[in-house]
Amino acid sequence: MSKAEELVELYRQLELAAAHLPLAEKATDIVPGEGSVDAEIMFIGEAPGYYESVERRPFVGKSGQLFRQTLRDSGYQEAEVFISNIVKVRPPDNRDPLPAEIEAYKSYLNQEIDIIQPLLIATLGRFSMAKFLPKAKVSQVHGRVHKVFWNQRPLFVLPLYHPAAALRATQMKEAFVSDLMKLPKIMAWIKNQPLVSSETTAHTGPDKLNLAQVIAELLL
Ligand code: URA
Repeated sequence: MSKAEELVELYRQLELAAAHLPLAEKATDIVPGEGSVDAEIMFIGEAPGYYESVERRPFVGKSGQLFRQTLRDSGYQEAEVFISNIVKVRPPDNRDPLPAEIEAYKSYLNQEIDIIQPLLIATLGRFSMAKFLPKAKVSQVHGRVHKVFWNQRPLFVLPLYHPAAALRATQMKEAFVSDLMKLPKIMAWIKNQPLVSSETTAHTGPDKLNLAQVIAELLL
């Protein structure tokens, strides 16, 4: 199966499971990820909001517009990256996702990552950041590239403020924009890194990922 076919099959499975998943009642409640299956950069947000649940597309509301415009300003096209969420269905009143909800959707997100195999995951907000950097605080680490291991492969993680938080405070908006504008420089740096031997990465995987495996933190 091609990557595109694998992704289609994954979302088919997700829609079939909808009735048994928290927050969802029916297949059309699911908001799948979107973008290029060959993306080098994958963005992971929190959960769909109202407009996302109506259009069944991630980040198309007000905060999504800020995110997508800043992405374009950085030189990337939306179609060449991949955009997804930790939780695939809108929580009532846009409340924070609960740990059990994040857990229920975890295997679907893990499969998206495994299919796309991005070089960089940029997390939008604290919930997606916590998947890779459980003890970090966004205010302290935003805009810095972290190296983790994912299924024995090196994976770089760039924590970013959530664009909704950026819309609420000028300082956060400035940081959000300037962090995203670093993307071309960060990607050039990542592509220059020597490949890391799989021997040093043995016995790691999505479920065992923790801060101990963050082997390098770089200020760019
Ligand atoms: N906020 C998110 O975290 N994800 C979306 O898709 C939209 C808003």
